[in-house]
Amino acid sequence: MIIVSALDLWEKLRILGMASSYDACAPPSIEERRAPLPGIFYAWAFGTKVPLLKVLLTNGCSRNCKYCAFSSLVDHGVSSFEIKELVGIFMDMWRKGLVQGLFLSSAIPGHPDNTMEKMISVARILREREEFKGYIHLKILPGTSQDMVRRALPFATRVSINLEAPREEFLKNIAPSKSIKGEILPLLPLLKEGFTTQFVVDIAPERDLDLLNAVEILVKRYGLKRAYFQTFRPIPGTPLGDHPPGSKARQMRLYQGEFLVRRYAFSPGELIDSEGNLPKNTDPKTFWVRNNPHFFPLDLEDSTYHQLLRVPGIGPKLARRIIALRRKGGLSPFHIEKAGINLRKSGPYLLYKGKPLVKGFQVILPLE
Ligand code: SF4
Repeated sequence: MIIVSALDLWEKLRILGMASSYDACAPPSIEERRAPLPGIFYAWAFGTKVPLLKVLLTNGCSRNCKYCAFSSLVDHGVSSFEIKELVGIFMDMWRKGLVQGLFLSSAIPGHPDNTMEKMISVARILREREEFKGYIHLKILPGTSQDMVRRALPFATRVSINLEAPREEFLKNIAPSKSIKGEILPLLPLLKEGFTTQFVVDIAPERDLDLLNAVEILVKRYGLKRAYFQTFRPIPGTPLGDHPPGSKARQMRLYQGEFLVRRYAFSPGELIDSEGNLPKNTDPKTFWVRNNPHFFPLDLEDSTYHQLLRVPGIGPKLARRIIALRRKGGLSPFHIEKAGINLRKSGPYLLYKGKPLVKGFQVILPLE
């Protein structure tokens, strides 16, 4: 009897772990790293890559998203964890050092509050009874009540809520029973400590501009920490089973564009071509630099943080370092390369006290 139960639990872990792979918790380069057991995925947590138990509470769903293997439109077997089963399996994996945290999501059978309540119970038991102090990521299900979100937040290290599409009309095409305006936007003001979201791309006719505009609004108004882009994977038996798969190259460009909008304060309109999409043959920052030669050169002595971020080879960390050195009076020609500025990459776009740092690609500063 015990053996049968253990096998049953293993099978649930396999099914509900695999089912969670439709939910991104890191860019593909990290998440797809080989994991030793079903349900274990690598994710960004606490600024580093960590293995998480990433599972759905259940794959039974009453919604009708056209791209999903678990929708009510698809005849599929339903697996669900009992609260105590999931708590037990997680603590077992954690004690054995296999995982460092939990990422819990779910399909939505019936009212979202009922499932959300069970997810909160898992997190609460882990915190209060098992005294687990590590990483817990809870997915906020669309349509959950504000009260339920408030109850979830104290137990979660991070939360996310998936928009899936950048605008209501795109979402209605692919997930008729979901609503950005009715089910997601009312919850965002409660997530002011930060949240992540996911978009499924290459499924609706959205342009990169639509996606990046959504990212910009979510960052500025609601404190979005990061957006993930899941390329569409057609699943046989679903209404979109014959739709062509999404492009990995587009996914990569969207991650680059999202980073530039969220961390570098580029506006989406600056990064796209005449058709509203990111350039296909170059990275978006290089594309912008080529189209804006009048912006350069910038003088290291008086450029702002956001101006410095536009220079090839300069990111947020280096821009902050340059400004900090300047304030301390430590940005002399002798220290410029030591500060981390790559003169061959960034030099052609920079001046120091009105003088060029390089001639063409030749470094002309005295560096020693
Ligand atoms: S809500 Fe939609 S995407 Fe999520 S499990 Fe249900 S049918 Fe699938």
